[in-house]
Amino acid sequence: MKMLINGQWIDKDEKIDVKNPLSGEVIDTVPAGTKEDVKKAIDAAVEGFEISKNMPVHERVDILYRAAQLMKEHQEELARIIATEGSKTIREARGEAARAVNTITLSAEEAKRILGETIPFDSMPGAENRVGYYYRFPIGVIAAITPFNDPLNLVAHKLGPIIAGGNSCVLKPATVTPLSALKLGEILLEAGLPPKILNIVTGHGEQIGDALVTDERIRMVTFTGGPDAGKEIIKKAGLKKIGMELGSNTPVLVMDDCDIDAAVESCVSGAFWAVGQNCIGVQRLYVQEGIFDEFEKKFVERTRKMKVGYQLDEDTDMGPMITETEAKRVESWVKEAVEVGGILLTGGERDGAVVQPTVMRDVPKTCRLGHEEVFGPVVILYKINNLDEGIKEANDVDYGLHAGIFTNDIKTAFKAIKGIDVGGIMINDSSDYRIDGMPFGGVKNSGLGREGIKFALMEMTEPKVVCFNL
Ligand code: NAP
Repeated sequence: MKMLINGQWIDKDEKIDVKNPLSGEVIDTVPAGTKEDVKKAIDAAVEGFEISKNMPVHERVDILYRAAQLMKEHQEELARIIATEGSKTIREARGEAARAVNTITLSAEEAKRILGETIPFDSMPGAENRVGYYYRFPIGVIAAITPFNDPLNLVAHKLGPIIAGGNSCVLKPATVTPLSALKLGEILLEAGLPPKILNIVTGHGEQIGDALVTDERIRMVTFTGGPDAGKEIIKKAGLKKIGMELGSNTPVLVMDDCDIDAAVESCVSGAFWAVGQNCIGVQRLYVQEGIFDEFEKKFVERTRKMKVGYQLDEDTDMGPMITETEAKRVESWVKEAVEVGGILLTGGERDGAVVQPTVMRDVPKTCRLGHEEVFGPVVILYKINNLDEGIKEANDVDYGLHAGIFTNDIKTAFKAIKGIDVGGIMINDSSDYRIDGMPFGGVKNSGLGREGIKFALMEMTEPKVVCFNL
């Protein structure tokens, strides 16, 4: 496929191969964008902003609704692109494609609700003759940088509110999974989006990222990805708004009084969805002592039933990791954890990019698996005596995106809600529960700001005060 700059689909002699992660087969190529391409894309987006900021809300709404309709018509094709360029199984990819339709639909709806307020100027002595209000206006050109693990829906989470808010954009999708983003770009143009508003540059973040995030014409960088790249971008970005959706090593507490079978089912899914390459995937499971043995037995049995294989086979439960390099990294983290005393209950083997679903227990915090984000199909069980210990352990990391707790005691739930430092906590669901309209984001190294269309729109627009001196 080609990249989109200034309304043109651009090709280049130098290409990047897009490969199926399991077979290694080259399924397509994209141009290797350069710093000059980034500059041209920003030039176009600056012109695009003159169009987007003057576009009435009803036109933005129509474009987004039409795009959502076209996405629905192409939903199976979108799912197959997601599952072919990425790690997701076809069933997981269908779920993502359906959510992306919802994300763009929500963006159309929220475009109509970008509200202001009247300001009580007469609350200030001497200002009795003044009346006024504020409304929200678009902030300008936004640079959007997205990761590989939800290659369509996370792009929709950027483009939907960018367009709804009247901004323009330069998008840089993940190099390993650019096709879903380019397809969404095609659909948005077909839906009537004026071309200069959306520019998509393909290319390696390390080579073209600086040109994008340091340009002073960019008013906001909205980034989803790992903490290392996120921190690098923050250092370089200068005077811009920043949205950071970063990673986590997510905790879930399982208390004695819960429904064990429901907790096992939900946590197995939460741990191995998208091969564990999921920012809210379950990594650390704190299980209360009274049910620990039963939970461990059932959890390991259920994990062993997972069918690992080719993403596009209908009965595959878990596909390969995104690259063999990533699979080797996860394998080495598991080995390191075993060397320092962690117990391997099942899994741990690797073949190419495939890592078997892996369950461990008692992994010390000192090793990488014990305190970093594994972003792979590995989950660790720990025994806890009580809720206080669970909350303390859940918080004893540098991250705080989502958490979960399984309990049937309302007081236990509320204590966990208050005590665990995260952006979202699920009661009787694993941490891996989300809908696209809720505020989404983290604390500590998990990020800054919130997505979820209504909340992203707050970040992507600014209030302008109007005051009449009568
Ligand atoms: P990544 O390596 O940080 O890459 C994310 C994006 O940043 C890619 O487009 C990448 O380009 C680009 N990039 C890398 N270095 C850059 C730089 N110096 N300047 C500008 N852009 C740069 O992350 P990933 O491996 O794709 O995704 C996994 C991470 O994303 C995990 O940590 C996960 O938890 C996090 N994540 C968070 C959320 C959330 O909503 N909180 C959602 C999903 C994923 P290249 O592809 O060319 O390297």
